[in-house]
Amino acid sequence: MAAPHKTLCPYCGVGCGLEVVPQRPSDDPTLPQRWQTRGDRAHPSSQGMVCVKGATVAESIDQDRLLYPMLRESLDAPFERVSWEVALDQITHRIRDVLEDLGPDGVYMYGSGQFQTEDYYVAQKLIKGCLGTNNFDANSRLCMSSAVSGYLQSLGSDGPPCCYEDLDLTDCAFLIGTNTAECHPIVFNRLRKHHKRNPHVKLIVVDPRRTETAQVADLHLAIRPGTDITLLNGIGHLLLRWGALDQGFIHQSTQGFADYTDVLRHYEPSIVAERCGIAEADLETAARTWAKSQSVLSLWSMGLNQSSEGTAKVCSLISLHLLTGQIGKPGAGPFSLTGQPNAMGGREAGGLAHILPGYRLVKNPQHRQEVEQFWGLPEGQISPTRGLTIGEMIPALEHDQVGLLWIAATNPAVSLPDLNRTKAALQRSPFTVYQDAYYPTETAAYAHLLLPAAQWGEKTGTMTNSERTVTLCQAFRPPVGEARADWEVFAEVGRRLGFADQFQFATSADVHREFVQITQGRLCDMTGISHEQLATSPIQWPCPTQETADTAADTAPDKHNKRLYTDHHFAYPDGRARFMPYHEKGLAEPADDRYPFVLTTGRLYGHWHTQTRTGRIAKIQKMHPQPFLEMHPRDAERLQLADQDWVEVRSARGTARLPVLVTKNIRPGTLFVPMHWGSLWAEDAECNALTHPEACPISLQPELKACAVQVVPLSPPDQSQSLAQVEERTALPVAMVPHNPVKSSEPETHSSGVLSSS
Ligand code: SF4
Repeated sequence: MAAPHKTLCPYCGVGCGLEVVPQRPSDDPTLPQRWQTRGDRAHPSSQGMVCVKGATVAESIDQDRLLYPMLRESLDAPFERVSWEVALDQITHRIRDVLEDLGPDGVYMYGSGQFQTEDYYVAQKLIKGCLGTNNFDANSRLCMSSAVSGYLQSLGSDGPPCCYEDLDLTDCAFLIGTNTAECHPIVFNRLRKHHKRNPHVKLIVVDPRRTETAQVADLHLAIRPGTDITLLNGIGHLLLRWGALDQGFIHQSTQGFADYTDVLRHYEPSIVAERCGIAEADLETAARTWAKSQSVLSLWSMGLNQSSEGTAKVCSLISLHLLTGQIGKPGAGPFSLTGQPNAMGGREAGGLAHILPGYRLVKNPQHRQEVEQFWGLPEGQISPTRGLTIGEMIPALEHDQVGLLWIAATNPAVSLPDLNRTKAALQRSPFTVYQDAYYPTETAAYAHLLLPAAQWGEKTGTMTNSERTVTLCQAFRPPVGEARADWEVFAEVGRRLGFADQFQFATSADVHREFVQITQGRLCDMTGISHEQLATSPIQWPCPTQETADTAADTAPDKHNKRLYTDHHFAYPDGRARFMPYHEKGLAEPADDRYPFVLTTGRLYGHWHTQTRTGRIAKIQKMHPQPFLEMHPRDAERLQLADQDWVEVRSARGTARLPVLVTKNIRPGTLFVPMHWGSLWAEDAECNALTHPEACPISLQPELKACAVQVVPLSPPDQSQSLAQVEERTALPVAMVPHNPVKSSEPETHSSGVLSSS
């Protein structure tokens, strides 16, 4: 029997190792080969564990695939199949025209944490290097850019300092703004096992909802949405008052302590408890647990990051670690859990509008020069101006400043805030290229040119998970139809634009070989990693070659369980971490008389983002058949609503119609809606029709977690109509009609141009 193919789960940033095996060898060549996934016991990060998403991912691989390039004149016209030659010509001609009319900043690419690192790297070389615009942003902007800027401000560089072994070693896990049990389930399983086996280990969860994570906590602090900084400063205040500090660490390894304590003085426990809506005794218990624990590990994800003060929240959390010296040692540290499977690789490859490969910054002239030299480009070729974030791209489209929009492996027509405005802006784009594995998606409705992308399992490349472990994702079958790897498309466009020298890659291993060289001497040094070595085992960075070993933060000989900053020498030039004191500003859009509820958004265990894959998997559809609105019984009673009654939720920007789920698991005055349902999967249930685009001024990550809404009960006829629509959709999860019918010019092909398993 052939050895299984080793790869990585393509969903979340936990990065579980998978083995893929043919399910049933078929002698009938007309039947598609089926595949099955199972946990890879040899993978150091997950040790054989997978959640339902990883276990079922292979079921989506042949569902509704886009097979060929498709082109249309306008958004009203049907797509026509075209050759790659025509498609690539279209792109290069259009780019040349835009460069002439609008300059380099008229081109915009929006990528994805679904990219492999090789895809990210080649895209940066094309857009930031060869075209000379930093207009590349990724959906990681919506997910973890506040973690990036928080690490950068506090520690001097991006890069989570912890590893998963810390989950087994901590005395106190402090989970804030993360429903880890549902969103990062394998991390949570590991932590929960440790918690169960060791009664002295404490689990504190901070979340306005009593999530599955909160339900097993020793202490659940159900704070009012947006009061995280007050809580964190309140804990800091008590630690300071009790003298529960690591004076030696503060003295030797930090700066800014005096300013920080000036801020903490304002956070008396009674004030904090009142603002956060929690008991003063609970605040004290949290602080006391932090003070008494030998090791404190904090975990966070979107609950802190997706905020108009996301960077301030992350820095406030890291400051508690600096105050108590809880960093750079086993079981301790501030650990950001990444959403996308390769958002970390994106950060390493420079895949956001303000960064360059190797944890470099666009604004730093030396960094730009280093990258220009490395890429063989003239000095000054990389623009000193940071690119537009995806949030800033929307007004740029509105003002006709974007001539070519290239979207790949992401679905902004569901995932961006203020969705009605977003869709109207996408409608204005003069030419949109949409590169994806699936069709239909909601964003395909706004595309002029569709490019079929090889997806998970059809291309070989690397991904980095939350604990900095790099895994080789091995292809186990050829791409469907004419699909191509994203990096191959970017490289081909680069060559056609006259940059043949820059894109001489024959394989993704060539791309990777070049990429790791640009990380030499940086915190994320990966010069000791190659595809060949990764074929044996995943490797955690930093992993420098012998020659660069002395530049890395941790040169332990073992290939796993490395922590950053074990010598308490941080990434600032003076080696000191910074206390970054912040006062709380509160929500960008608090509740008021007109919109009296705060709506928060989040994820469910089975679904992934906008359902592009999971919506096509029957088991997951069955687990989560429809969207809903969580509401506290007190609010439901006031509005005379019962469980399953339908309501219209309204914000200043849009509406959504949802059935109510009455539950005590949410605070009165706060509502929750899952973010997975776009217009393909439910009618009028998009949570982002309600959310606003206000973003953190530092990370520019939007506040997708909170907006002000009102709730209007729907009359019974409206309710029955809505219910019928949902039942119909639930029965036929993948048999949906594309937004715009696809017309094939070649009769022998599947008439819709997409491969369906049905
Ligand atoms: Fe995949 Fe994340 Fe589940 Fe692991 S925890 S199997 S990476 S979705």
